[in-house]
Amino acid sequence: MSLTAWGIRAACLLLWTAAATAGEQDRRLDLYFVDVEGGAATLIVTPAGESLLIDSGYPDNGGRDRDRILKVIRDVAKLDHLDHALVTHWHLDHYGNHAALADQIKIGTFWDRGIPDTLQEDAKFVDRAALYRAASQNKSKTLKAGDTLPLKSGTTPLSAKIVTASGDVIPNVGPANPFADRHKPQDDDPTDNAKSISTLLSFGKFRFLGCGDLTWNTEAKLMTPNNPVGQVDLFMVTHHGLPVSNNPAMVLALDPKVAVICNGPTKGADAQTIATLKEVKGLAAWYQLHRNIKLTADQQAPAEFIANPVETAQCTGVWVKASVAPDGNRYTVQIGPEGKPREFAVR
Ligand SMILES: [Zn+2]
Repeated sequence: MSLTAWGIRAACLLLWTAAATAGEQDRRLDLYFVDVEGGAATLIVTPAGESLLIDSGYPDNGGRDRDRILKVIRDVAKLDHLDHALVTHWHLDHYGNHAALADQIKIGTFWDRGIPDTLQEDAKFVDRAALYRAASQNKSKTLKAGDTLPLKSGTTPLSAKIVTASGDVIPNVGPANPFADRHKPQDDDPTDNAKSISTLLSFGKFRFLGCGDLTWNTEAKLMTPNNPVGQVDLFMVTHHGLPVSNNPAMVLALDPKVAVICNGPTKGADAQTIATLKEVKGLAAWYQLHRNIKLTADQQAPAEFIANPVETAQCTGVWVKASVAPDGNRYTVQIGPEGKPREFAVR
């Protein structure tokens, strides 16, 4: 083969490699909310093609959640590896597949809040943590409030800041939170939910916040009396939309334009949380990964904003995707590959 032919082949290979990575191809920031039936799994693909998976759904169920996540990684985002995999906290619906995924694809860096020796609410935690340690080759990195994930930033600045971890929060500075008096303290939550990692992702003016299963009093610790987070464009409703989270002092101050609830048919998207969302002044739409089968149609999102209307046994796991334009000024949200993208301007 001539040198020219080699050159053409090399150029084709380069083009193919670039095309194989969605973020690199279109310079957009993509966020996929994978349906894991009331767990959580969010895939973020940056314009540089860097990938971050936050949480990994439930284990077992014949590999249901693992396979749904892999499908989004490989077939939708067209990635062959994950650069970063983060665990918000040590509950099975959040780190259920980190080890199983590592069996299937290369994972660059594992991030978590630190691995406790035991977990009072999970008698099998020591064994499960051993699988995670093995998958991460004992090299997982601990995140603390105030840390920043090392994502590559381009022309439009990109950053991912950790605003809560292990019960600690970033300093409560910034403007006074006008909704601070909506916080009515609840009994302290002794579970790992209260220790969830919360990630504030910024891309130009676009801002997304996901807080794992952070609970009421830690939400208030972060957001009262001042609001150090500011307002956000896209909010992953905390803790699947359960009412032990989503303190109005936090949700109303964040004033999200679009919210996504990662609920299941019988878990989350609770009436109380939806009532709080309806109070959000700037809210244009909220999406649910599932219809809450316990609520009537008028008590939840309109059908066209619900990704999966059926119960788990019949569910195909349709995802919700948000995609932010290269300049960070506009974003679309759509349900599944055939869904109509709705466009929103950043706040
Ligand atoms: Zn959860």
